[in-house]
Amino acid sequence: MAGFLLLSYNDPMAKAVIVYGPPGSGKGTQAELLERNYGFIHFDTGRFLESLLRSEKAKTDPILMREKALFDSGKLCTPEWVLSIAKDEATRIAGAGFDIVFSGSPRTMYEAFGEGATKGLLETLTGVYGKENINVIMLRVADETSIKRNSGRLVCSVCGLPKLESVSLPHCALCAGDMRTRSLDNVDVIKVRLTQYRERTFPIVDAMKKQGVNVFEVDGEPLPYKVHAEVVRALKLIK
Ligand SMILES: [Zn+2]
Repeated sequence: MAGFLLLSYNDPMAKAVIVYGPPGSGKGTQAELLERNYGFIHFDTGRFLESLLRSEKAKTDPILMREKALFDSGKLCTPEWVLSIAKDEATRIAGAGFDIVFSGSPRTMYEAFGEGATKGLLETLTGVYGKENINVIMLRVADETSIKRNSGRLVCSVCGLPKLESVSLPHCALCAGDMRTRSLDNVDVIKVRLTQYRERTFPIVDAMKKQGVNVFEVDGEPLPYKVHAEVVRALKLIK
């Protein structure tokens, strides 16, 4: 592993990008577009953890069994475990020479900066990508936009892909499954999520800025492909 670390550290081109934005700002979409158009690996922490907990290994591995029990009962997974998984995967992806993009995580100060002897994700990214190659994209959208985009938003009942408000298709564009609404997309829940987003994320981004990480604010109101063009410009990506 040490050899891999050295290799990626010497590659001045590899980038780590963290996309933050309130619910409905399109951060997942922007991460997907970086993956599809520029070869980034989109590391969606929540989705990755869920797939780990659903794997065959989770039936026998004691740590995974413990975390699965928490997850299945609707509780949060152990923060130390979540952080260690994110750091391991980021190191692996960097070691293979790939750019990485996160959407909405690290979610907490603990995940970003660690605590005591535990290193946070930022320190790991700095070690494998170099601080000058870490970039935060903050998507800005008005609260009303966030609420409008999320209320009664339709997602595929089979694969979870959201329906774009700008595209009128009766079924999922990926798997043709039926669309449904999600309970976390009702107006009151979205307002709570907006407050949570500000309280959790702004201090993380401020602290990253102080440590010299590049932070770019991008208008998240236009159509996704237009936002993508701004993201590409901010990151100075070349195809
Ligand atoms: Zn689908």
